[in-house]
Amino acid sequence: MLLTDKVCLITGAASLRGIGRATAKLFASHGAKVVILDLDAGQAEEAARAIGEGHLGLACNVTDKAACQAAADEVVARFGRIDVLINNAGITQPLKFMEIEPGNYDAVLDVNLRGTLYMSQAVVPQMRRQQSGSIVCMSSVSAQRGGGIFGGPHYSAAKGGVLGLGKAMARELGPDTVRVNSITPGLIQTDITGGKLTDELKVEIAKGIPLGRLGVADDVANACLFLASDLSSYITGAVIDVNGGMLIH
Ligand code: NAD
Repeated sequence: MLLTDKVCLITGAASLRGIGRATAKLFASHGAKVVILDLDAGQAEEAARAIGEGHLGLACNVTDKAACQAAADEVVARFGRIDVLINNAGITQPLKFMEIEPGNYDAVLDVNLRGTLYMSQAVVPQMRRQQSGSIVCMSSVSAQRGGGIFGGPHYSAAKGGVLGLGKAMARELGPDTVRVNSITPGLIQTDITGGKLTDELKVEIAKGIPLGRLGVADDVANACLFLASDLSSYITGAVIDVNGGMLIH
C-alpha cells in the first residue's frame, strides 16, 4: 500500500476507459482517499462509488478558476488535507495547422493548460500549509515530437506548455516540499480518440513501437502511482515517458 490515507484529487477521472479513472482505481487499491473531479456531478459521483467506499466525486470544470477553488475548499473541509493532485483533464482535436480557428485554440489550450494552472493554484496553498504534496501534470508525446496521431498542433502547443508550467512549478514549490512532475503518454487506448482508432490503424501504429503494442490506461496509472507516492520523494521537475519506446530521446 503506497498511498495509505493520502487524499488524492484527479481531474477528468469520470471517463469510463480513461487514464484518470484507471488512476483513481489504482490509488484506491493503495489506500488513498480519492476525489474524482469531472464536468458532470452525477458521473463524478458514480465514478467515485465505483472504486469503493469513502471516496468523493465532485463537478469541477478545470477552466473555471472559482470552480477549482470551490472543489479544493470542499476537499479540505471534508478530509482536512490534500496530498496529491493529478492534472489529468484534457481534450484534443484532430485538426491541421491552417484549420485551427480561435474557438479551437481556446478550447484546447483552456482545458489542457489553463486547467492545469487553475487546479494547481487551488491546491498549492493547502500543500504549502502541510509542507508536502505531489502534483502530476499530464502532457503528451505530442508535445515532444510535434504532434501525436490524433492531436492537432494546438494540442501539441498546449501539452508543451504543460511541460514548461510543470517544470517552473517544480522550481518554485520545491522549497515547500511540493513536488511537480509530468507524464508524456504515447498512444493510450481510451475514448479520447473518438472512435477513430480502427484495428488496422492499431496494427500499423504498433509497428513503430519497440514494445510492440499500444498503451493502456493502467500503463499511465502506474506511472502516476510512482510519482504520487514517496517512492519518488527526491524526484521533481521530471518528465516520465510512458510510450512503449515510440519516442526515445
Ligand atoms: P478521456 O477522454 O477518456 O478522459 C478525459 C476526461 O477529461 C473526461 O472524463 C472528460 O469529461 C474530462 N474533461 C474534459 N474537459 C474537462 C474540463 N474542462 N474539466 C474537467 N474535466 C474535463 O481521455 P484520456 O485519454 O483518459 O486522457 C487523459 C489525459 O491524458 C488527457 O490530458 C490527455 O490529453 C492525456 N493523454 C492521452 C493520451 C491518449 O492516447 N489517450 C496520450 C497522451 C496524453
